[in-house]
Amino acid sequence: MAAFYQLFIDGKWVDAASGRTFESINPGTGEVNGVVAEGGEEDIDRAVNAARRAFESGPWAKMAPGDRGRLLYKAAQKMSEKLDFLAETESKDNGLLINETKHIAMPATVDVLEFYAGLANKVQGDTLASPADRLNYTLKEPIGVVGAIVPWNFPIMITMWKLAPALAAGNTIVIKPAEQTPISTLELMKIFEDVGFPDGVINVVPGYGETAGQALASHSGVDKVAFTGSTHTGRLIMQAATKHLKPVSLELGGKNPNIVFEDADLESAVNGSLFGIYFAQGQVCASGSRMFVQDSIYDEFMDLFAKKAEMIRVGDPLDPTSQMGPQVTEKHLQSIERYVAAGVEEGASLRTGGERYQGAGGGYYYTPTIFENVTSDMRIAQEEIFGPVVSAIRFTDEADALAKANDTIYGLTSGVWTNDIKRGHRMARGLKSGTVYINTFSMLDSAAPFGGTKQSGFGRDLGIEAMDMYTQTKNVWVDLSDGLNWYGL
Ligand code: NDP
Repeated sequence: MAAFYQLFIDGKWVDAASGRTFESINPGTGEVNGVVAEGGEEDIDRAVNAARRAFESGPWAKMAPGDRGRLLYKAAQKMSEKLDFLAETESKDNGLLINETKHIAMPATVDVLEFYAGLANKVQGDTLASPADRLNYTLKEPIGVVGAIVPWNFPIMITMWKLAPALAAGNTIVIKPAEQTPISTLELMKIFEDVGFPDGVINVVPGYGETAGQALASHSGVDKVAFTGSTHTGRLIMQAATKHLKPVSLELGGKNPNIVFEDADLESAVNGSLFGIYFAQGQVCASGSRMFVQDSIYDEFMDLFAKKAEMIRVGDPLDPTSQMGPQVTEKHLQSIERYVAAGVEEGASLRTGGERYQGAGGGYYYTPTIFENVTSDMRIAQEEIFGPVVSAIRFTDEADALAKANDTIYGLTSGVWTNDIKRGHRMARGLKSGTVYINTFSMLDSAAPFGGTKQSGFGRDLGIEAMDMYTQTKNVWVDLSDGLNWYGL
């Protein structure tokens, strides 16, 4: 029988107020992975109230920053001890390969937690220049109750991008995981529970976006909303947050250009570009889904790229020899199929792939797919497919590459492959995106701020910069003179 998971509110595991549950499906098999309590408005309200109490009073409110950091370190330590279990749980929850969860996502998540644990006692304001008879300084304070709404592509990792800096800064949090992938986050909470975080500091309410997510984004008791997901939902979150004018940070979609110049090392550009699009089944907001290749090397590059793409082993995510796992749901697979059909209809040439992969059992598998003869006006060049589908586009020179690369509503990441150091940095300046990779793709580091420009959102996850997303500045004035007596009364 499938395991049952409850909501985690105020330090307790509880049923949803409605008593409703939903099934979470393992994308690798299509079978039920667990049954989960379905949180709704009333549960969000309970969770926000618990987070408010924990923020305003009780042990968390009084805890020294260094002690907060130590608790976060303890959680990181426990995560490391249970890394294999968490990796497998995550792979079963969303279909990421065990190699991706065990060797990339989970270690990166532990690193994020350790990074912010170390920053907990380094939050500081400034003493400002002021006359001798005045003291003027700033305090960096936590914002309060954070509402975090996260997607399904890297559930634990992206949750940690919000959770760790929010807690390091002294906030409390209510997390709404994606309906497709609530289980790994709930397993993660058991670790935080064991470590001894005070009740109400972290709350997790799985449920649907339109109900639980909407209730969280619009709740009067939430002081800040941190969101990762689609641009469409980002807009809805922003609208919901306007009700009480709460700040939001949005990490949204991308249609990221990956530009290969004729002077690049061909083999390493091919290998890096394969990782850029097919890593995590292409379900990556940072993926290099528009691949621009210079005319003079186009045929040679594409022949090698296609040859290697066809060699990628699609299969069971728990099999360490698999190189690409399943898409997250049948619904998402169908959305990819619709995009591929649109590409063909609009006149692009399907070089390889473009069909389901049947050889791996009952899950939602798709083949690595390449479109050629793509033009920038096509939907497959403009809309985020979020799957293993790359659109290859030719370019003539640097100016042409830049113009085509920037011709999108998005601005999350970009990649440049070149051995010309000046060209690499010129392109880095010209590309309109939050991150630029030179001779690599899809890199992440706890220290490196990550986020978008244009409709890829605003605000930054990761890096020291993310602490700004979870703190606010208070300015304090002190009069050291005989006193302010403007009216001379
Ligand atoms: P969504 O943006 O719909 O989901 C992200 C989160 O937002 C989920 O927790 C979701 O809940 C929640 N949500 C949905 N609607 C609302 C709402 N009205 N108010 C508050 N919260 C809401 O992404 P999807 O999962 O539907 O994926 C669709 C597309 O989004 C992908 O194909 C891809 O293009 C993009 N995407 C981008 C990601 C990124 O990292 N930038 C990550 C994931 C997706 P629930 O899932 O429970 O409905």
